[in-house]
Amino acid sequence: MILLRTIVDNVYIVKPYDPNVNDCCVYMVDTKSDAGLVLIDVGLNFEPIQGIEKDGFDLKNIKHCLITHGHIDHYGACYKLKEYNKDIKFYAHELDAEVIEQEITNPYIAQIYADYKYELIKISKKIKNDNEILKFGSLQFRCIHIPGHTPGSVAYLLELGGKRILFAGDLPGTAINYQGGNLEAYLKSMQKLLKINIDIVCEGHEDPIQPAEKVLKFIKGYMKFNEKLNRIALENPYDIETLLELAKISYKIGFYENTLDFCNYALEIEPDSDRAKMLIKQAKKHNPPKIEYIKNLINRVSGSQN
Ligand SMILES: [Zn+2]
Repeated sequence: MILLRTIVDNVYIVKPYDPNVNDCCVYMVDTKSDAGLVLIDVGLNFEPIQGIEKDGFDLKNIKHCLITHGHIDHYGACYKLKEYNKDIKFYAHELDAEVIEQEITNPYIAQIYADYKYELIKISKKIKNDNEILKFGSLQFRCIHIPGHTPGSVAYLLELGGKRILFAGDLPGTAINYQGGNLEAYLKSMQKLLKINIDIVCEGHEDPIQPAEKVLKFIKGYMKFNEKLNRIALENPYDIETLLELAKISYKIGFYENTLDFCNYALEIEPDSDRAKMLIKQAKKHNPPKIEYIKNLINRVSGSQN
């Protein structure tokens, strides 16, 4: 019996989204061939990956690991895979490969993960070209370069079980013109994705998004989200209209913790805002975890500009 959640036959969620844990979602594709198991991202916590053995999969059979981008919450536990299979191959875009192969230099990131023990890995294959194909057995993954969140973000497209599945990393991550983020590049990347008929998006910090029409809405929603987030972070952190719009977009996308966060921040600026209070009420019905992201972001960006 398979305990893992199945997306389509032979495609599994190894590490599902958990809003209370600082980690990314991890997916696994069984190639049913000598190419073994393909993991998409590894995240930080290795325990859920060991859990595949309960379903009869062999950790030694993980032969390939596709890394979506150079943020440690996506590749931190890669080195542990080598303990089971020293020949495992790691894949990442060449523009993020250097970050992955080196010690963390960003002091903010280093501080967040100060207690996290990890070892450096070498990228076995650096993806250089947009639409490059990786073949594992009879399966093909198309590497779509989607810079914006980071310069070397990659989404891996797989057609299987009659579905086009996109493993997209932090597609809905921030794309602020700051420390490797780039809004203009992000918007172009998303335009590229909108032209592909994607049935399911499997990304880093949410449950899979499907069907195709929801995927379109999701991508368009995040394009708007990041445009407005740039305005808040870089132009005017006290722009209450934009904050409330961000809260609304987050609500529509189903990211209720963000809705709360934007509204709470808006209330600090305008304590009587009825619109913020109403949105908080609506978001709370979904019991989201409490996050304090927006304030940290603004402090960080404004701090670095001083
Ligand atoms: Zn990221």
